[in-house]
Amino acid sequence: MMRKTCKAIFAAGLLASLLTFQTAYGASPIANGATMIIRVDENGQTQRENLENGTSGEGQAANGGAGSLTGTDTSAGAAASGDQTAAGTDAGAVVSGDQTSTGADTAADLTQAGTAADPTQPNVAADPTQAGAMTDPNASPDGTLPEGQTGELTEPLPETAQPVPQLPAGIRALDPTKPMIALTFDDGPYAPVGNRIMDVMNQYGGKCTFFMVGNRVPSYTAEVQRMVNEGFEVANHTQDHKYLNQLGADSIRAQVEACNNTIQAVTGVRPTLMRLPGGNKNSTVLANVNMPIILWNVDTKDWKNRNAQSVINAVMGKVKDGDIVLMHELYTSTAEAVEALVPALTAQGFQLVTVSELAYYKGLPLNPGQIYNSIP
Ligand SMILES: [Zn+2]
Repeated sequence: MMRKTCKAIFAAGLLASLLTFQTAYGASPIANGATMIIRVDENGQTQRENLENGTSGEGQAANGGAGSLTGTDTSAGAAASGDQTAAGTDAGAVVSGDQTSTGADTAADLTQAGTAADPTQPNVAADPTQAGAMTDPNASPDGTLPEGQTGELTEPLPETAQPVPQLPAGIRALDPTKPMIALTFDDGPYAPVGNRIMDVMNQYGGKCTFFMVGNRVPSYTAEVQRMVNEGFEVANHTQDHKYLNQLGADSIRAQVEACNNTIQAVTGVRPTLMRLPGGNKNSTVLANVNMPIILWNVDTKDWKNRNAQSVINAVMGKVKDGDIVLMHELYTSTAEAVEALVPALTAQGFQLVTVSELAYYKGLPLNPGQIYNSIP
């Protein structure tokens, strides 16, 4: 292909510059070993041809929990190694999309491969101003312009792309310098409330964690699938909302396992975090819940007051960076409160995050059988 390209360029007598380079191993978002040609055509436009097919889109982390950070739960192995496959998937999508695109406004910025964790985020690559910037021949080779004249890139090319280091599955790109709060919702799923929570979260770029009762999940499969599809965290609140301190070891394990199995069967994602019903615990519970146990440090008592303003008052002016807020997915008053809290907290500069995102950005490994009330 090199020979063919050069021949064409010289025959036309239009060559202004020709540059080939090898990217350093693993140091560039471009696939290892990728070769890129940059040339200026008769219209003065820079043409970049990435000669490496970066397609590596195989492998969804089907069993990947939403951001397993410990990797100690063997059932969440796919999540722990999900960095690799997820990275390959995202990077592959970006690179291959670039290779096949023909539109004038689709120049892909390959640096996006390292940061585009949230599928709801607008793709900067589609911004025509980005494409315009890349017409500068002195610009760093971080992208390619649409092809259309040589047609050479339609040839199948070897798959040698390496996965780009990326955020773990379920973790968005967030600003670690800004305060974060994890709003959490127990006892669902319950679509009439859960969908309202997700709607307002999405509107303000927030996410949250749902600790769900396994036996309720089959009644709300669409809602629970929506959670996963839109980047919310699905987590374990036992199969039957049993107070685990009243059970023996085998029953404790069965309650936890059945809930994980149920959620995984519906969503393809196995929870990596659990919350004890009532927060009730003893040494048997801690020894047999083989997952990090997420409790809370801000209790809205929404189940008791059933009043939106009371819930709002329990949060506004009281929460701080790293707090975990307890609410319940069952009450209309809670949905009303969340619809007020999300814009208000966002306006105060808080990032509304899942528990796994909070732990990730605070650098705290979450260990099985250990209790976390907040993650400052
Ligand atoms: Zn509960």
